[in-house]
Amino acid sequence: MSRDCLFCRIAEGSERADIVYSDPDVIVIRDIHPRAPVHLLVIPRQHLGSADEVEDPSVWSSVMNAAVRVARDMGLCAGGYRLVVNCGAGAGQTVYHLHVHLLAGRIFQWPPG
Ligand code: 5GP
Ligand code: ZN
Repeated sequence: MSRDCLFCRIAEGSERADIVYSDPDVIVIRDIHPRAPVHLLVIPRQHLGSADEVEDPSVWSSVMNAAVRVARDMGLCAGGYRLVVNCGAGAGQTVYHLHVHLLAGRIFQWPPG
């Protein structure tokens, strides 16, 4: 837990967010600036600055299982959804606490911009 980290404060409950799923390892919140009709952030409670800092593969299993579970529970599979991890400034990362974007509800272009 880092007091300087927005997602740590949200996970700990000291910063407000719209939480749609929570378990002992992961929270899922609505993105404050949605880029699609459904735009969620799947966030491990453990502070890791980016994908590049992950050593323990169980972090990925918790995060990706939570993402797919929420997608199923929200009925997103039929229309399709996209999972995105921005790693580093060049890829568009702006919050340096690992998170997976879960986007759905519109058609997505490939390759992404
Ligand atoms: P990144 O750019 O690091 O891949 O994604 C960070 C995401 O966090 C962005 O989509 C941004 O809109 C979102 N975000 C930034 N600040 C807040 C906040 O205070 N609350 C919520 N719910 N999302 C935020
Ligand atoms: Zn953090």
